[in-house]
Amino acid sequence: MSESFFSIPDLRICSYAITIAGGVMFWIIEGLYPWFSLQKHRALHAKLNLSIAGLNLLILLPSGILMAFMLNWSRNAWPGIGMLVLSPVAKAIVIILLIDLWMYVWHRLNHQIALLWRFHSVHHSDPTLDVTSSWRFHYMEILISELLRLPLFMLMGAGIEHLLLYSLLMTPVIEFHHSNISIPPALDRLARLIIPSPMMHRLHHSTLRSEHDSNYGTMLSVWDRLFGSLMIRDNLDNLRLGLDHESDPNKQQLFALLLRPFRQ
Ligand SMILES: [Zn+2]
Ligand SMILES: [Zn+2]
Repeated sequence: MSESFFSIPDLRICSYAITIAGGVMFWIIEGLYPWFSLQKHRALHAKLNLSIAGLNLLILLPSGILMAFMLNWSRNAWPGIGMLVLSPVAKAIVIILLIDLWMYVWHRLNHQIALLWRFHSVHHSDPTLDVTSSWRFHYMEILISELLRLPLFMLMGAGIEHLLLYSLLMTPVIEFHHSNISIPPALDRLARLIIPSPMMHRLHHSTLRSEHDSNYGTMLSVWDRLFGSLMIRDNLDNLRLGLDHESDPNKQQLFALLLRPFRQ
């Protein structure tokens, strides 16, 4: 197989299609079988989170183009993983695992470094969770993430096709674990053997710091197991989501959320 065994335009289209199809599918299912039965104002909640996500596209679209250009250029100068004698498929698997490991580290840093937490706390200030919460990130978190991961991906020898493939696999997982779908506990236990399950990620959105500083995994749950940050609580009946004082309804406004990290 050649380096171009992944067709980049096809992967790009698949990635967009999966994001939208997953979003619509989980939105419908969580409406029919919700875990939080008292969730109100779904449309208003979605409108706010989608507005934040829409703004992020202004960063993600040009950064995707720049990333493609830079990775293509750097791979000719430094092959990274390409130095190892691996088939393209094995190389893609190694790079995808490394990207997911970086996502784990990055997420953990967002909880440990005060400056990063200012921006990441916008994601955690969501007073409830549904599939639209998976796209709710402050634009500065996206911008810093893009700036830090570019040199790492260049070092790995990743190509844009690896990033697109990762996005294709990771997006349905984060949509699923943010969704408000009620799934049987046995199924959740099964899911969490491989991915961060909805019960795991709900605990990650607890108001309690001792609980929200856990379960950092994005696509795979293995990193939380390896690095001791896995937390499981099967009974989430008394779980409160969000952040004390930051999840009040009067603070759930687009401009208030965008400006909040700069005001603390
Ligand atoms: Zn977090
Ligand atoms: Zn989350």
